[in-house]
Amino acid sequence: MSNYKMNTKCVQAGYTPGNGEPRQIPIIQSTTFKYDTSEDMGKLFDLEAEGYFYSRLQNPTNDYVAAKIAELEGGTAAMLTSSGQAANFFALFNICESGSHIVSSSSIYGGTFNLISVTMAKMGIDVTFVSPDCTEEELNAAFQDNTRAVFGETIANPALTVLDIEKFAKAAHEHGVPLIVDNTFPTPVNCRPIEWGADIVTHSTTKYMDGHGAAVGGAIVDSGNFDWMAHKDKFPGLCTVDETYHGVVYAERFGKEGAFITKCTAQLMRDLGCVQSPQSAFMLNLGLESLHVRMPRHVENAQAVAEFLEQHEKVAYVNYSGLPSNQYYERAKKYMPNGGCGVVSFELKGGRKAAEAFMKQLKLAAIETHVADARTCCLNPATSTHRQMTEEQLIAAGVPAGLVRISCGLEDKEDLIADLKQALEAIN
Ligand SMILES: *Cc1c(COP(=O)(O)O)cnc(C)c1O
Repeated sequence: MSNYKMNTKCVQAGYTPGNGEPRQIPIIQSTTFKYDTSEDMGKLFDLEAEGYFYSRLQNPTNDYVAAKIAELEGGTAAMLTSSGQAANFFALFNICESGSHIVSSSSIYGGTFNLISVTMAKMGIDVTFVSPDCTEEELNAAFQDNTRAVFGETIANPALTVLDIEKFAKAAHEHGVPLIVDNTFPTPVNCRPIEWGADIVTHSTTKYMDGHGAAVGGAIVDSGNFDWMAHKDKFPGLCTVDETYHGVVYAERFGKEGAFITKCTAQLMRDLGCVQSPQSAFMLNLGLESLHVRMPRHVENAQAVAEFLEQHEKVAYVNYSGLPSNQYYERAKKYMPNGGCGVVSFELKGGRKAAEAFMKQLKLAAIETHVADARTCCLNPATSTHRQMTEEQLIAAGVPAGLVRISCGLEDKEDLIADLKQALEAIN
């Protein structure tokens, strides 16, 4: 499949049925798998043979879908997780441990901010947050001897800042660590971070990849480019023996192409169990089959909505990198020439009170803690997803109290604009 274009891969990559086999991906709804001999099964436990023994670690349905996502991102291996949160946690925890340090863009999803700054801190993993717009000197100054990963989001949720992937990749590589990019918002249809130097790509597949608000899920993709053995001292988990698998050294046995995902499955899935159900993987695949058709429509609707909002008197400013007035316009053009995503945010001049009045009046756009769905939805982050943040943290994350995030769905853009127009009129 790797020679085919994106549109073809969205539809067909990951699963090719043989003669007389099901055309659609089979849902292998089985917790366990049968073997003829204990020796056969033993080889799986020693990671000497490929195969399935228990669906907490791997399941064929999930693997078909993960293989498709690996192809879409241009990676060498991938795995599904139970959620985007699990994907980002696993991607980081696969190479970090107590005493490690992460350099992260400060402009990231609220859940990921909490994960890194609170929960991972309790595990003894430190973080230094940097502005996505920091200078190269500021970025380099954030690294420490114990830094093990750099993290950022291609388009941040909900601040919609655009990551300078090349700059962050360069700094990461100069310090001998990988760049992990959460590519949830643009999806590989609009941006392929690996082509710009990212080493690991993560997704909340809950968003555009599923695209119908049907199944929570996540994915991790390895580019296969990072040379773990060249930085052996930093990544003992990949470069020294794992006694729980009879002394396997992941980076030696599975090479650059497979070490990261194999270790992540064999250790973190085994021990933490954040597996995606095969039912959800099946639904995710249905979404992926139309991802390349849906993304351009999400972008078209968002562009129209952003242009409408920008000229409205009650709107202080609009955040959408497709607007020439946006500070990320040029960067977005470089990394996402076909547009970014369907999410637009804007600040109402009346602040928190105006946001409340506006939200109440919406008819077509529903109030939801969600984005990237076929149906348009709206959210005031300060009173929902980001409510654990202090006023200072809200500002640092680019989410002031009057900010509204709208995720433009696949409806007719004229209907969407009419709905926003009447809701704006209701603010006094
Ligand atoms: C939603 C989201 C997550 C978390 O994903 P879940 O599937 O909700 O766990 C992570 N990163 C980004 C950019 C998101 O939008």
